[in-house]
Amino acid sequence: MKFHTASADETRALAARLAPHLQAGDVVVLVGDLGSGKTTFAQGVARGLGVEGPVTSPSFTLVQQYEGRLPVAHVDVYRLDRIQELHDLGFEELVDGAGVTLVEWGDAVAQAMPNDRVVVKLEAGAEDDERSVALELLGARWHGADAEIERRLSEGSA
Ligand code: ADP
Ligand code: MG
Repeated sequence: MKFHTASADETRALAARLAPHLQAGDVVVLVGDLGSGKTTFAQGVARGLGVEGPVTSPSFTLVQQYEGRLPVAHVDVYRLDRIQELHDLGFEELVDGAGVTLVEWGDAVAQAMPNDRVVVKLEAGAEDDERSVALELLGARWHGADAEIERRLSEGSA
């Protein structure tokens, strides 16, 4: 399913509408060039999950954790060179835990991502503030969920 947004706030609002569909153990992989809006999308998911404080890029900390309706772990693997480092930071435990895990640049470590995942691909559009946001729901966890989620995410968009 594919959406278009015309501002960062629209991307956050779109992402927030995904939040009600997420449950413990879910992984959302955010893919796209630097500045495409991965952190912005993560902010929207976190807000939709009831996280109240600011959600910032975890580029230097690798992982930041928040408390919302569910715990939210925000991981940025941009600076990791090896999958071993993902393991070292406790990625498997995060995913097996009680929360939702958001992974920026997850395609760089694709082998380490679980089969069940939502992949969000962000791309620049023709105008500065335009983005295309493509979602893929992968694995048995999401089997049959596409139509309902597409309908929910389309609500409120132009
Ligand atoms: P990334 O994490 O992919 O490097 P960020 O989310 O940190 O990207 O940055 C995206 C930048 O682009 C932010 O400054 C944001 O305000 C801006 N922006 C402009 N339009 C959009 C849009 N439609 N969706 C997301 N971000 C947008
Ligand atoms: Mg980022």
